[in-house]
Formats: sequence, structure tokens, C-alpha cells
Amino acid sequence: MESAEIRRRWLRFFEERGHTVVPSASLIADDPTLLLVPAGMVPFKPYFLGEAKPPAPRLTSVQKCVRTPDIEEVGKTTRHGTFFQMCGNFSFGDYFKEGVIPLAWELLTTSVADGGYGLDPEKLWVTVYLDDDEAADIWTDKVGFPAERIQRLGMKENYWSMGVPGPCGPCSEIFYDRGPEFGEAGGPAVNDERYVEIWNLVFMQYERGEGEGKESFEILGDLPSKNIDTGLGLERLAMVLQGVHNMFEIDTSMAVIDKATELTGVRYGADPASDVSLRIVTDHMRTSVMLIGDGVTPGNEGRGYVLRRILRRAVRNMRLLGATGPVVADLLDVVIGSMGEQYPELITDRKRIEAVALAEEAAFLKAIKGGTNILDTAVTDTKAAGGTVLAGDKAFLLHDTWGFPIDLTLEMAAEQGLSVDEDGFRRLMKEQRDRAKADAKAKKTGHADLSAYREVADTSGNTEFTGYGSTEGESR
Ligand code: ATP
Ligand code: MG
Ligand code: MG
Ligand code: MG
Repeated sequence: MESAEIRRRWLRFFEERGHTVVPSASLIADDPTLLLVPAGMVPFKPYFLGEAKPPAPRLTSVQKCVRTPDIEEVGKTTRHGTFFQMCGNFSFGDYFKEGVIPLAWELLTTSVADGGYGLDPEKLWVTVYLDDDEAADIWTDKVGFPAERIQRLGMKENYWSMGVPGPCGPCSEIFYDRGPEFGEAGGPAVNDERYVEIWNLVFMQYERGEGEGKESFEILGDLPSKNIDTGLGLERLAMVLQGVHNMFEIDTSMAVIDKATELTGVRYGADPASDVSLRIVTDHMRTSVMLIGDGVTPGNEGRGYVLRRILRRAVRNMRLLGATGPVVADLLDVVIGSMGEQYPELITDRKRIEAVALAEEAAFLKAIKGGTNILDTAVTDTKAAGGTVLAGDKAFLLHDTWGFPIDLTLEMAAEQGLSVDEDGFRRLMKEQRDRAKADAKAKKTGHADLSAYREVADTSGNTEFTGYGSTEGESR
């Protein structure tokens, strides 16, 4: 089943069951606590919080999502992209657990001929929150789901909140067993690649108070209404329905892998490391196109920096695969070719998207040239002094003057047998941000203070940019 058909069936199924179809919101979150939209519920947050009245008590959507914290997983697991589409159905004080569980079951297991996704019920597993007998009973008694394929997990996996006071509640997740080829048996509690999570049903029922992030907090009481928020990964379901091993091998992504192999001469499936690079290129090009499509432009701050690093990482991985010249025009063409049907604005806006992406590629290729000279000198000096560690201020200089992502510096230094003083680099980055923050305060510009995201990245000690995307919603 093609991705476009999965989407059509989703919206039709819920529309026929009284849901109003809402188009995807922009990836640029209309929410000061988020840079980008990481989940389908984000545009509806005011309805869940009771700050605004929903247009109808039941809504459904297929929302574009970007999760930058998942960047580490991209290409390495079979199921994570920085860009993906989340199919959702939402109830605001309308149906609750007893309504959503049978609906989910019906859509997944109804035959393809009868409008469903036709999944084999024997291959499905379910998790519920530790003490959520109510959900477990609905699964067994109303749906007839076998108790031995229901697992109970704790806060981290099966309890949803936004990490701050507000709505919260247990959730129930649905997994598909891809078989022994993907490793040991035992259900989603033991193997998350074999039992791939496809759908999360959140029962938004309580009000949480202060506490520690998402895993330890006080529950203040019931919300005025019981709500439902669900999210199914469209690309993950496509992976299952199309019988491919990896999320990037589905209909809307494979053409990008093919183009990257054509441009580099590297064969997909020949070598694990180059396969990871090919999938990173594919994911990051899709994310870049979707971000530029929604009006993000590359820069050194906020969303612009997310885009810059993702696009540059795509180009860098193409170079690792052996490309020497520009590649973005060809890759972008294929992304628009496969996404344009669902997002026609990509086609009407093609010229602008191309111009933004090509300018960034050109700037990066120039930076690699310019930065390489600085790096070579620094490496020679370090070695001449008998050192094995490139100083943090050199990495900072490369970042500041040539926009070198730290991971690029790390890699190029490693090729010359040196490590990099990452702590020193991060200290200088922080000092620069603190200065910028003080300047901004002095000017009283009134812009949202996004520095919290950067502090997360600074303290995470991570060389990739985990933490820039959001402080919420990336995992539930
Ligand atoms: P996982 O445990 O596999 O990382 P998650 O629990 O973080 O997934 P949720 O926050 O529950 O995911 O999001 C709802 C659904 O969105 C998931 O069940 C999955 O189908 C899909 N999804 C989540 N993250 C990604 C991603 N990075 N790429 C593709 N699909 C995703
Ligand atoms: Mg999960
Ligand atoms: Mg996750
Ligand atoms: Mg989940």
C-alpha cells in the first residue's frame, strides 16, 4: 500500500466516524516552548489545555513532524527519521479509552478490501501503563486481544505529559512483530526493533503538578474532561505494509536513496557504514526540503541552525560516500518528486526552495575549503608541539568563521590522528551565547528566549545536536 493511500484511508476512516479533518499545520510551531512541531497534538494544545474551544469534539490530521533529538538514531535504527508524518485522531471530552481502543483495532485489522490496513492480528502486541487495568480490560474484553501479548510498562514508556504542569495521562501503544529476522522474541518490552512501535494512544485524563521532567511528578487530580490524543507514524506503517526492512526503503524515500547511490556510485546494501550514510542523506534531504518549504532559512540560531546542520550533514555524508561536487539540486529534485503529490506547495515553491538549499550548499562547500586550511595549519602546529588534542578555540574558530559543525571538525581531526577538546569548544560556545543573551536583554528586543535549548545541548556533552528540537513531545 502506497504512503498516499495510507494517508487517504486514515483520514477517510476517521471522517466516516465523525471526525473533522484538519490539514497539517506548518512545521514552525506556533508555540514559544517549541522550535518545531514534534507531534500531531501540538497544534491542538490550546484545546487540550482548555485555552481555546476546538472546532469540533473529534478531529483527525496527518501532521508533518520534525524531531531533532532523534537525529542520533537516523540511519542506525530502522525506524527513526528527523522528519516523519504523524497520523492522529483526537477527542476533546468526547470518546475516551473505551472508544479509541476498538477504533484503532478496527482500522489496523480490517482487511484492505474493506478499507482497513489489513494487519495480521497475530502479529500485534500492546503495552499499557503499569496499573491501567481499565485499558488492559478494554483490550481483552472489548477487542478480544490475547492477554499474553499485553505488556505493562512504567512512566518512561507508557505515561505521557508535556514535562511541565498541565494535562497528562497513561497511554497504550501498539507494536508490530516483524519476526525472528529482527532478533529475539519477548515483546516490545525486550526488543524495540523486532516489535516496532506504530501507534501511541494517549489517555489525557489527569492534571500534573510540578516534578522532575516526564518521569516523576505529582498528580493533582482529574482534568475537567477526558481527552484522547493518538499518533501513528505514517512511514512506520508504510514500512510494515510495504514489507521493507527500513523506514527509508518505502515508496516516498527509496528514490532518494537510489539517486544518492547513482551520484556516488556506492551500492545500497553493500556496506553497513555507507548504508547509514545513504539513509542519513535521504532523511536529512527530506527534512531540509520540508523545513525550507515551511519558510525556515539556514542561519546560526534556532530553527535556522537546525536546518543548517541538517542540510550540511546531508552534504557531508554525500562527500563521505565519495561525492566531490554539488549534489543538492539532484537530491532535492527527487524529494520534491516523491513528496509533491501530498504537499503541492513544494512544487509551486520549487524555485525558492531550490535557491535557499543551493545557496547553503555553496556556502558549505566554500566553508569546507576555507576551513580546511585553518584546520590543516592547526593540526600541523598541534603535532609539531607534540600534542594529540586539537584546542577548543580552534574548533570554535572553525565554527564561528566557517560554520563548521563540531562533528565535522571531530571527523576531520580524527582523520589526521587528533582528538578535539570538546569541553573547551563548548565552553567558548556558551560564553558567546551568554554574551549574545546579555546583549539581547540590554536591547530588550522582546524576542522569545530560546537559549534554554542551547543550554540543553551544551550540558548534554553530545557531539551531535541532541536537544535543539524541543524539551517536550519528542518521546511519549
Ligand atoms: P520510539 O519509541 O520508537 O522512539 P516514540 O515512543 O518516541 O517512538 P511517540 O512519541 O509515541 O514515539 O510518537 C507516536 C508515533 O510516531 C510512534 O508510535 C511512531 O509510530 C511515530 N514516530 C515517533 N518518532 C518517530 C521518528 N523519529 N520517525 C518516524 N516515526 C516516528
Ligand atoms: Mg516509544
Ligand atoms: Mg522516540
Ligand atoms: Mg511512543
